[in-house]
Amino acid sequence: MVLWIGIDDTDSLQGMCTTFLATEIVRDLTQDFDLIGYPRLVRLNPNIPWKTRGNGAVCIRIGEGEGPGSIVGSIAGRFIVSYRRGRTPQGMEAVAKRVARLVECWSRFEDPTTNPAFVVLGKQPTAGLYWKAVRGVVSKRYARVVSQGRGLMRPYKNGRGLIGALASVAWRPHDRTYEILTYRAREAWATNRQIDPGSVVRMDRAFPSTFNNYDYQTQQVVIAPHSPCPVLFGIRGDDPSILPAAMNLIEGERPERWLIFETNQGTDDHVSGGPPFGSWSTVRWSGAVQSLPRILPGGHVVVRVANLDFTAYEPSKQFRSVVRKLVPGDRVQAVGAMRRRPRTLNLEKLLVESTVDVPQKVANPWCSRCQKRAKSMGHQAGFRCVRCGKRFPVSAAIFAQIGRGLLPGWYEPPVFARRHLSKPLKRMHPKFTRDRVAQNELQKEPSVGVPPLPVQESVSRAREK
Ligand SMILES: [Zn+2]
Repeated sequence: MVLWIGIDDTDSLQGMCTTFLATEIVRDLTQDFDLIGYPRLVRLNPNIPWKTRGNGAVCIRIGEGEGPGSIVGSIAGRFIVSYRRGRTPQGMEAVAKRVARLVECWSRFEDPTTNPAFVVLGKQPTAGLYWKAVRGVVSKRYARVVSQGRGLMRPYKNGRGLIGALASVAWRPHDRTYEILTYRAREAWATNRQIDPGSVVRMDRAFPSTFNNYDYQTQQVVIAPHSPCPVLFGIRGDDPSILPAAMNLIEGERPERWLIFETNQGTDDHVSGGPPFGSWSTVRWSGAVQSLPRILPGGHVVVRVANLDFTAYEPSKQFRSVVRKLVPGDRVQAVGAMRRRPRTLNLEKLLVESTVDVPQKVANPWCSRCQKRAKSMGHQAGFRCVRCGKRFPVSAAIFAQIGRGLLPGWYEPPVFARRHLSKPLKRMHPKFTRDRVAQNELQKEPSVGVPPLPVQESVSRAREK
């Protein structure tokens, strides 16, 4: 048994970061208590419109550690040791006082959209609170009611942060990943980050259990944020034991502190199991393509599947070329955020299950008398040999199955356009290995549309009659 501390909504777009506050709380509390397990970074429903950032809450467990400890961070020149198990410490009130001091010191109270809260609980709220908060919408009242009698709740301002603070404590991981977060020295905050891109590539190749590090197509470093927050960079992966070594491969600005978080990032926990789908939900939708894709102003691509429009937005870049290649009859499955108005699915991932054959006219009919191709007389009007005047019906043209340039398999947006919670293809079941191949093919050949097929005389001759 341990004490569960949950914190949410302390940051703003202008700076700070709830995970930095977590390092300050860990630094303070580990002087008198032991850290139990990893600190947790819990992402909640990314579709909630009033959450402008990554919608991440933090949970820290403290107690009297039992068994061997392991190093999970370094803060202010001191290694942070964590224990697998622990006994509940005395003094919940005293712990809350210390947490309150730090929350009040570091939260962005002046930001009207920041409504901090923290909780110190002796017992986790029901798991249902987490699932509701990651997939749907939770009211403050509901979060309070299901957490009644489990400890102390401290809301500030309108107290909306209580929802995330309680939900982060309620998380019982089925699937999990880890992120080593590194932080900048105070004097470097809000200045440009110095990170050597070559070292990020080397790290990405040396540690295949990490993900979302680097976008090879656009040659972009993805481990560093662009906001003025104190984070220097974060490396995500499946194996926490290699993350410090991965961190040490990154060259450039030196982190002032680091801490490994256990997270629900990259797990698809936000994807609803099935209908009925609530507001702001992320769903799976499958069926046959009903229309040719349309391109909207701004470069967004829309295609209709089983009576729902799928939209791939411009920031998803080359991912749009997959959607553009779809034709009616293709079967697909998508994961995406459901938008009510206009009703559309914002694509996060797409599985091309099967594609239809598309015959395409590759040549006009052949006049064997004149050894010449006939000319078209207009749309659907047939053909005529200009030399001898012989007429040919529309069906006399030479058709061939064209290469679709689209292999069955899963496709995902480039690294920089992914959501924190989206499970990258790299983490999916080994049976999807072929999908990685499909994805690689796409990256090699980002060209749009259908590649032209060279006209083969043998094909034309066979169809001549
Ligand atoms: Zn002719």
